[in-house]
Amino acid sequence: MSRLLVCTDLDRTLLPNGPQPESPGARALFARLVGRPEVSLAYVSGRDPGRVRAAMAEYDLPSPDFVIADVGTTLLSADGEGDWRDDRVWAGEIGTDWGERDGDGLHALVGDVDGLERQEPDRQARFKLSYYTPEKPGDLPGRLQARLDDAGVRARVIWSIDEARGVGLLDVLPASASKYHAIRALARREGLDLEATVFCGDSGNDMEVLVSEVPAVLVANGAPEVIAEARSRSAEQGHERQLYVAMGGFMGMNGCYAAGMLEGIVHFHPGAREWLAP
Ligand SMILES: [Mg+2]
Repeated sequence: MSRLLVCTDLDRTLLPNGPQPESPGARALFARLVGRPEVSLAYVSGRDPGRVRAAMAEYDLPSPDFVIADVGTTLLSADGEGDWRDDRVWAGEIGTDWGERDGDGLHALVGDVDGLERQEPDRQARFKLSYYTPEKPGDLPGRLQARLDDAGVRARVIWSIDEARGVGLLDVLPASASKYHAIRALARREGLDLEATVFCGDSGNDMEVLVSEVPAVLVANGAPEVIAEARSRSAEQGHERQLYVAMGGFMGMNGCYAAGMLEGIVHFHPGAREWLAP
């Protein structure tokens, strides 16, 4: 097998920080897989780069080759010595969607929409404006999108839920920036076709990638509604073969977090199984 680019979400995908238990040894097996010279690793997260580093330290994660942070609005390349360099070309490509505005400028424009509460400063980025919403937001995402459209701002509104905290999370991003677009841009830059790429995720802000033509793994700890939506939308788009929902049983593990990632990666790339042997 030639090269493989593994792109993975962090929270509740590689990080076992949901209610389900993690199978013992699953993360160490994942580290063995991505330690192979054929494999490149990209962390793809809603976190900002500092909070990605914090997760790496807390959960003893392998060093990535690339970091797609702030829900796809920041693309960084690792230099092999622990430093991450910002991809200015990517920032330039997505920045035009918001005109001259950054997150603060956009907040001044739409922050008064009823039901929005701005998240903490370390949850914001130049091209990511993040709010808390009620757990059941009703038509709030739609009202916000309409306001942005009326103002001529090319933005997308992505809503997801933090079940543990019982709060809605809403991100406003440049229309051409998302986990999906950033992964496609990264694969293109690396000269890899989609068969050499695999994405792993668990929830709402992963959905666009999960239902796309990018081979994708939904870990077994994903919420039942997320699994149902991913299955139906990928089938609608003719991508059902590009979605693998982990079920557990692989190497005696439970299919959650890293166990589900490995199960799905081996589904798409059977040759990777021998990389997991001690
Ligand atoms: Mg997640």
